Amino acid sequence: MIRRLCAVACLWLAVAFTTASAAPPPARIYVNARVWTADAAQPVAEAFAVTEGRFVAVGSSETVRALAGPSTTVVDLGGRRVVPGFIDTHWHLPARRSARLDNAGSVEVIQQRLVEYAKGLPAGSWVVGRGWMPTDFPGRTAHKRYLDAVFPDRPVVIRDRDGHQALANSRALALAGVTRDTADPDDGRIEREPDGTPTGLLKEGAAGLVSRLLPPLSASDTYQLLLEELAAAASFGLTSLTDATDVGLTDNERSAVERALAEGRLTVNYRAALPLETDVAPERLAGFVRLRDATRGELLTYGFAKGMIDGTVDAKTAFMLEPYVGGGNGTPFVSQDDLNRTVAAYDRAGLQVGLHAIGDGAIRMALDAYEYAAKVNGRRDSRHRIEHVEVPASADLPRFAQLGVVAATQAIFATPDTSTLENYAPLVGPERAARAQPFKQFDDAGAMQAFGSDYPVYPMDPLLGIYTAVTRQTRDGKPEGGWHPHNRISLETALLHYTRDAAYASFDETRTGTISAGKFADFVVLSRDILDGPARQLLDTKVLLTVLRGRETWRAPEFAGP
Ligand SMILES: [Zn+2]
Repeated sequence: MIRRLCAVACLWLAVAFTTASAAPPPARIYVNARVWTADAAQPVAEAFAVTEGRFVAVGSSETVRALAGPSTTVVDLGGRRVVPGFIDTHWHLPARRSARLDNAGSVEVIQQRLVEYAKGLPAGSWVVGRGWMPTDFPGRTAHKRYLDAVFPDRPVVIRDRDGHQALANSRALALAGVTRDTADPDDGRIEREPDGTPTGLLKEGAAGLVSRLLPPLSASDTYQLLLEELAAAASFGLTSLTDATDVGLTDNERSAVERALAEGRLTVNYRAALPLETDVAPERLAGFVRLRDATRGELLTYGFAKGMIDGTVDAKTAFMLEPYVGGGNGTPFVSQDDLNRTVAAYDRAGLQVGLHAIGDGAIRMALDAYEYAAKVNGRRDSRHRIEHVEVPASADLPRFAQLGVVAATQAIFATPDTSTLENYAPLVGPERAARAQPFKQFDDAGAMQAFGSDYPVYPMDPLLGIYTAVTRQTRDGKPEGGWHPHNRISLETALLHYTRDAAYASFDETRTGTISAGKFADFVVLSRDILDGPARQLLDTKVLLTVLRGRETWRAPEFAGP
């Protein structure tokens, strides 16, 4: 909680405190800014000093200026708003380049974008896309006929926005040998016509029947893709990313990230997830712990072990305590016994676990597994997480604080777009829709809440996420007053979830997440003062400068200065 009242007094106290010892003059000082620090001990400041990648003083312009020596670079920020670098606690490196089908709104737009995208590909190669929603299709039913119409003999497969179902055209199904005689895999479903012919819609694991045919990326393709994504992240003010891959980095991804680190091109704190494996061998667990400990505090770290309990509401694969409107509860991917045993093994090894759980049934399973681990191993500072945690049962909210479990939410998931209003909300019904994405309720229940984007499912722009958390409206301000506005949170709280709290969820709170003396100099300069004015201005705010450990990783072309 930020107390503006104490701001002035704290500011002077902190400067006096941090400059008491006779340190050499700082390398660089930034003055004349409106600094929102996320540090309750000193919530606001005008200036800070940076030496060797760390903040060494934070305070008024006058007192920080007084620290300058002959070799100090002085940067006047012209009264701009400065906040800590943004931390995305749930992000993915895309597996490949693909046509972006987000917000298509109709089959025609999907077809146009795919045709346009395919023009840039070698003739006859696979056309891959992602980002469609059921509401883009007539009757909310994706069907191969819409792809066959524009690609009669070239294979096409497109993932939905959430990545839990894919639509393949006839050519792709033929290449994969998927026919009316193909049985559903254990972990997915082939949608069919009444006569058993596949419709092209492949849910969960069934998508793998087709996607396993996609040619793998080369190591250099993966590296180029990583560099593009890192550049985008820096331009959005992101200084830390947790790559929440379920299976751990692939060999290509790991060598790409390591190469970026070695070449000085890793422009974020990159925290890679480890795989959560049932009946994992003790030596393998010990290897994960060694990897984590050896990289602690480095730019490339290895963090939590990520597993999946259920799917998504839109695909009706999120596991609910009560049936969806229209029937079916969804089915968890794991049994409670397997989950308990696995979580307890990782917990005993001292590792942090993150479980994807969206339906109230899956969320309860995750909480039960964490409770079980605490019971058999004893309580420790585990900071286990639940990823997405979209529709928790109200009775389970207090358990987050009781068990010390982090709600790793995605603010932007609450965007009330067509798919939310016409697919998601009707599927869960009014009572559950009213407690979906309950950011405020998590905070009120005392839960630690950390934001992420789930990029590339949603855009990674944190300002867009903050806008959604604060307004629960679309970009054009709909619906009036916001979608279930009782779940809205304040702008400062949303900022905390993207900075200080996200650092805590990453075991990084002593290194980053606030603008405080001693921490890494990870910060962002914004084009507008987002803390002064209507929330709408978040949509027009640009990141002018992103600094990671004292080093510029992004500077907007329009931002002049030293
Ligand atoms: Zn994810």
